[in-house]
Amino acid sequence: MPVAIAAAPAWSERRRRVGELRRRQSFARQLLDFYAAVLAVQEEAFLHAAADAPPSQNLVAYVAEAVVPRVVDVTVAAGPDRLRGDLMRRLDADDPGQMVRRWMRGEDQLPVDRYLARASLGPVLEALDVSARAACEGPRDARHCPDCGGPPQLSFFAAASDDLATGPRNLLCARCGATWSYARMTCAGCGESASSKLSIFSEHGTMSGDRGSVVRGLPGPPAADPQRAFFPHMRIEACESCRRYLLNVDVAADPNAVPVVDEIAAIPLDLYAREQGFSKITTNLMGF
Ligand SMILES: [Zn+2]
Ligand SMILES: [Zn+2]
Repeated sequence: MPVAIAAAPAWSERRRRVGELRRRQSFARQLLDFYAAVLAVQEEAFLHAAADAPPSQNLVAYVAEAVVPRVVDVTVAAGPDRLRGDLMRRLDADDPGQMVRRWMRGEDQLPVDRYLARASLGPVLEALDVSARAACEGPRDARHCPDCGGPPQLSFFAAASDDLATGPRNLLCARCGATWSYARMTCAGCGESASSKLSIFSEHGTMSGDRGSVVRGLPGPPAADPQRAFFPHMRIEACESCRRYLLNVDVAADPNAVPVVDEIAAIPLDLYAREQGFSKITTNLMGF
């Protein structure tokens, strides 16, 4: 199964996309500013981890010592008040190394613990080879990362090749950022494939040929271009069987899209899905 490993240029792509979406989506500006600050810390952690190459048996200690303090600093400096408060309280009560370990084991944890663990561990796993990812626990099945067993954060259609009208569908791992191929029109949470159980929601007027509903309650389009939709390349893929959803990013429709960034900035789609009573398979790093 092909697994794409993020290379260093991935970080400059993410930075570029944060800048683009920040200009276009004023409603997400605060969140994107914070995400940009976290990304800078993560990029540095990625480069250091690639150079340090910590052995997998020392992974937790390495992340706790080399990365966690930087993520704490950036969160205190640039994070939302509530996250900052929660983080300070949790650091008084628990050991960050344990938070990282629980995230690697796929255990239930408080959102703030998970934020700290995944923000710190993610870039290190991206930088290291498969043996580091193999130290993580979780099922190695179609709906989990083949490298680390992590759950999917999002789904995306890759750019189509010349002989295909539509690109392949991939899932992206919430833990290590690896991607793997997955069947279209199949729930990434439970494997449901009966079309009567699967719903697609997209922004009004942006989808054709797909069954689905209109996402309401979105902020208005940019004044400079009233015809332009915010998320013409994105949709909510929801499942009636498990009542869960994730967001899909169509990179073929918008070659500038960077799935992990576009997904974080699409807050109105998350709010809409929640209003419909669906819960996300995996909330993203920013908690949506
Ligand atoms: Zn993974
Ligand atoms: Zn499902």
